[in-house]
Amino acid sequence: MDHDSYWKEKDRLNAKLKELYPRMFRFIGHEARMPIRLGLECGSGWYPILTDLFKDMSKYPVVIHQVKEKFGGLRVYWQEDGPMSEKDHQAVHDLVAKAEDRCWRTCENCGAEGQLVVANGWRYTHCDLCKDTDGWKERDALLEKLRAEGKLLTPYELMFGKDDDYIRKG
Ligand SMILES: [Zn+2]
Repeated sequence: MDHDSYWKEKDRLNAKLKELYPRMFRFIGHEARMPIRLGLECGSGWYPILTDLFKDMSKYPVVIHQVKEKFGGLRVYWQEDGPMSEKDHQAVHDLVAKAEDRCWRTCENCGAEGQLVVANGWRYTHCDLCKDTDGWKERDALLEKLRAEGKLLTPYELMFGKDDDYIRKG
């Protein structure tokens, strides 16, 4: 995916997240300097996990400040955005912990089964194929190859499915 299509795809994805979850993602594109204003900061291999997480989280009055990769793991920073019981607060905490746990076993780059890899001081959760790539250019080239072979969906499709079937399923 070249630079232009990457940003177009990212804009499309951000717009859809905001449209589906206006409360939870109200800081996407917002002038407040929340990290989430530019969208998600992790590889698209984790998007299917985030799809489930966002669906579940949106049942609660929460707002998301940041979604990112750190030290090879997923981090989701959120806050209450209305009255929440202690039980509901714990429920959201557990949903996030479950998603983080799934990410430790999923390649951040391509979504295949993965594990934590430490290389040159960097920590990634990668599959056997992606762990040998060096830098984002090589990782991106690998994703392009997999997409060309029909083995991988685009980031938007990984999040919402093909033909927006995510939205139809509700
Ligand atoms: Zn991979």
